Amino acid sequence: MANSIPEIPIPTTQTAALIENPGPDATVVVRDNLPVATPGPNEVLVKLEYSGVCGSEIRALNAWGVYNPIVGHEGVGTVVQAGKNKTATALLGQRVGIKWLYSACDETGSEGEVATASSSACSACRRGFANNCARQLNTGKQVPGTLQQYAVADARFVTTNIPSTLPSEIAAPLLCAGLTMMGAQAKVDAHVGSLPKNEDTWVVISGAGGGLGHLGVQLASSQKAGRYKVIAIDHGEAKRQQSLDAGAHFFIDYGQSDDEIEKKVKDLTGGEGAHAVIVVSGAQAAFRTAPRLVRNMGVLVTVGLPVADFMLPVSAALCSARSLTVTGVSVGTEEQMSELLQLAAAGKVTPAVEVRTLHEVHDVIEQLRTDSVTGRIVVKIPE
Ligand SMILES: [Zn+2]
Ligand SMILES: [Zn+2]
Repeated sequence: MANSIPEIPIPTTQTAALIENPGPDATVVVRDNLPVATPGPNEVLVKLEYSGVCGSEIRALNAWGVYNPIVGHEGVGTVVQAGKNKTATALLGQRVGIKWLYSACDETGSEGEVATASSSACSACRRGFANNCARQLNTGKQVPGTLQQYAVADARFVTTNIPSTLPSEIAAPLLCAGLTMMGAQAKVDAHVGSLPKNEDTWVVISGAGGGLGHLGVQLASSQKAGRYKVIAIDHGEAKRQQSLDAGAHFFIDYGQSDDEIEKKVKDLTGGEGAHAVIVVSGAQAAFRTAPRLVRNMGVLVTVGLPVADFMLPVSAALCSARSLTVTGVSVGTEEQMSELLQLAAAGKVTPAVEVRTLHEVHDVIEQLRTDSVTGRIVVKIPE
């Protein structure tokens, strides 16, 4: 039997946004007669307040993979029912965050107790990277996502330490967009290491004005939470302004030739190119341009998710001759999540959020598909 908070009655049906006909004719419909699920022993039922809408949901709409009809993986809400196990019941009544990582094979993951990861866990989990678990389940993919009133979540993997000063609509984009950029930033930091003083370290962020990008700029920029000079690449006045507000030192509009973009980056970086290029955008052109913007011994960090059969256009000879590193990132660890929440509570990282309704999800995903969302759109879940 699941435990619930006595004063909050849990309905048997609920409202959710569903993707129908994934592919070219996909639509998102709102239905109000869907069953409310019951949490299993290690699970909780979360009454959601807000859910961010991630650019990666385009994949579900386009049928670039098999997804649950209910997507969304940036949910904030309150635990109203819990399974019988202690980790679940301990969360009753608490505000929690639901992320892309629904569960991993290392069941100690949620507490950050990496040292005690069971020996049967996969090697990524044993190293403390449950976000790279080989046997992970994902919210909105194998299990229903957060664009619904009541979502079941695994109590061992929800985020439990959202500072009380952070409103839920501000916390939501941190759960995927922010966390992913923490993961990307960690890769850049590890690669760049320490550099001689008085030498600028340059990071190009491609797709800088979007949901992930603007948080990535804030995390990287020496004018905000980071230590780098940031060159933001995106398109249009709104994204230029968003990138500069986020702390970018320079902005380059991608509405010009690769030659021109390369020349601008080289001019800004003493002729060598940036130390790191983070490709946040899922646009194929962004991946094509990236290798031309990085200096010798530099790192390319891929974050964006283009269609599955698109290959990274970087020649093996170029990688060898210029000693390039190419690495990818998929969200981040719970430790990075905690660090990010502290940065947000301290005002060093602030998501730019626009709140919309559940009925607008179709339009929101269309806007994401045409790359016309500046900052993050967050949906208010009906009460
Ligand atoms: Zn996401
Ligand atoms: Zn694992």
